[in-house]
Amino acid sequence: MIFCPECGKLMKARDGKFVCTKCGHEEPISKEEKDQMKKVAYMQENDILIVDGDENLGTKPTIQITCPNCGHNLAEWWLRQLRSADESEVRFFRCTKCHHTWREYD
Ligand SMILES: [Zn+2]
Ligand SMILES: [Zn+2]
Repeated sequence: MIFCPECGKLMKARDGKFVCTKCGHEEPISKEEKDQMKKVAYMQENDILIVDGDENLGTKPTIQITCPNCGHNLAEWWLRQLRSADESEVRFFRCTKCHHTWREYD
């Protein structure tokens, strides 16, 4: 988060520099700030992977369960500890036919 030295408004990153949303004042983005932004984007990608359980197919045990998407009766399953502290391990399923992924609810 960076604020305009001219008018104090919040500045937005654009074309490799910060631009004031009010007066148009420009500030170069330092290398450290760029690295920080990359890290945030990377972490967000990881969160998505956890939710989708997007891992290599064919390495997990299978279970007979009906796919809610296509009605196929065989799915791979795995356990995943979710990020939020108050959730226990959750079982995920992925249909071996249509690759629909869903999680088990109590
Ligand atoms: Zn400004
Ligand atoms: Zn399916």
